[in-house]
Order: sequence, then C-alpha cells, then structure tokens
Amino acid sequence: MEIVPGIHQLKLPIPFSISEEIGKIVAETNVYLIEGDTGWLLVDTGWDDPRTFKVFEEEIKRIGIDFQDISQIIVTHFHYDHLGLAGKLRQLSGAKVALHQKESRFIELRDIPKEQRVKVMKDWLSKNGFPENEIPDYVFSMEMESPDIYFSGGEKISTGLFNFEVMWTPGHSPGHICLYERAKRLLLSGDHLIAEITPDISALPLLVSNPLKDYLNSLRDLRKLDVELVLPGHGNHFDYFKRRIDEIIQHHQKRKGVILDILKDGPLVAYEIASRVPWIPQKGGIPWQSLDFFNRQMALMETLAHLEFLEEEEKIKKVTAPDYWKRNE
Ligand SMILES: [Zn+2]
Ligand SMILES: [Zn+2]
Repeated sequence: MEIVPGIHQLKLPIPFSISEEIGKIVAETNVYLIEGDTGWLLVDTGWDDPRTFKVFEEEIKRIGIDFQDISQIIVTHFHYDHLGLAGKLRQLSGAKVALHQKESRFIELRDIPKEQRVKVMKDWLSKNGFPENEIPDYVFSMEMESPDIYFSGGEKISTGLFNFEVMWTPGHSPGHICLYERAKRLLLSGDHLIAEITPDISALPLLVSNPLKDYLNSLRDLRKLDVELVLPGHGNHFDYFKRRIDEIIQHHQKRKGVILDILKDGPLVAYEIASRVPWIPQKGGIPWQSLDFFNRQMALMETLAHLEFLEEEEKIKKVTAPDYWKRNE
C-alpha cells in the first residue's frame, strides 16, 4: 500500500503469533520501502522465514522494483520481526544495513556460548520466582552478523525525496530508533508507538536497567515533535500522535498503581506479582492459567520493568534473594 506518495507499506507475516490475545496486530510486521533518487530505502525487514520472504518478494515485484534497487536498509531495533531478514536482503541487494549502536550488545551475545546463555536466563527466571518446572531448557536468541553502520542518533538520511532524521528512542529496546521527516511531518515509529497495542517494555537479564524510565522519557521527548502521520511497525498508521502518547503514558501510570496495590499485602516475588496483574485489561484481563511459558515470561519482564521504575521512585524496594519486592511505608 502506498501510504503517502513515495512510501510503500508492506505487511509481512510473522510465521507464529506471539500471543493470540493481541492476535492480528503482532501477526504482521510493517516494513517500509521509500523511494529515492539513487535507490530505495528499506526500513525494517521482517521475520527470517521463507513464508515472510516470499511475501516480500511478491510485494516488491508488485511495486515494480528488484532487490538491487534497494540501496539502504535501516532497522529500527534488534527484534526478530524487524531485523530477521536483514542479512539475506543485504546479500541480495548489496545495500548497507544500519542499526543503532546500543543494539550492539545483543549482537555481542552470540559470543557467549549457548549453554551459558541458557543458564543466565534460567537463573534469572528462578531468582524472580518462576517455578522450576515451568522453565524450559532453551532460550530464544537470534544471531546476526554485525551491521555496516551504527547510528548514535541525530543522523540525517536523505533519499532526495525525503529527509529523515534518526531519533534515538530507547525503551522498547535500548537502541530503538524512529525516523522523522520534519518537512512532511511524518514519523516512522517502529515499535515505539503503535495505535492498537502498548509496546511491551521488558526488563532483561544483564542488559538494561529501568527500561520503562527510558521509554517514558523518550516518549515525552518525541511528543515535542510536530507529527501529522505515524507509520508504525505493526497495525495501522494513524494521525493522533500526541493523544496516543498520552494514552500510553497513562497506561503505565495505571499499571504501576495496580502493582503497588498488589504489594499492599506484603512482599512478593515478581512472578507472583505478574500472576495477579490483569493482562490485556481492555479485554477484561487474561487469566494467568491460560498463558503459556512464553507469554508468562513476557508478563514477568514487563512486571519487572514497572518494579524497577517504582523502585527508582522510592515507592518500593527489593529485599532478599530470591528477589522480593516490598512497599515503602
Ligand atoms: Zn519490537
Ligand atoms: Zn515488532
């Protein structure tokens, strides 16, 4: 679909859906092909799977271009649904791949032996109260060759027709970036700002501390921009930029309140807290029993992001190992 003249949105399937509850939104990644004087700029690439690749191939044929017409690839963040096909498309097009330098820590994980990565993850899950019998013997981790270009934010990318500015927006991922077209008031928002779902903000072992703080700060910074149309990494494009930011900030405010309320009966481990949070509240809350390991792990990471934030606000503190969280009086 050509959303604005010169910007095509391709909806690429994600071969397995992350959560049935949020269904269609996470079943597709939006990638953008942007016309330029000397070639096309591709923003994000889709999941590395033959089915996804096939759709990509059909779509560019429909637009009337070839792989070699792609002259640059920018990836908004190090998640498989955005970065997956980057290596393959780089090979086919000869284009350079660019990513924010803060994502390099994920690339470096490939240097840690797999067994060690599994152990770190398992230890971290059990430290946070995950029952041993629920923890599987694997970790999902993707490996990728290094990109050609590392951004640090503020770079200007010109295609001739469009002039984008790289905006560093940490939170959903430490090196997440958005692309802003000031004159045309367009924002390619990746997973930072989505209309239908609140992007997940996850605490992870080893990698980040207080990602929710980073996220809310970068949302507030972004809010200062003049944006008429948002082109997100999932779901539909939308024009209520500031309202959507306010809704998301409110959502996290509310969730922090829910968590503080859960803690009023005494110290709890993160797993127990996560199991009492009403997930997908707009659908009346999804019962914990119906979540599989993957979704429970996501819920735990999201809960921890809120706990770290509340800790910094001095509303709670961590007490013992395994980690218990306790309200400050
Ligand atoms: Zn993502
Ligand atoms: Zn995504």
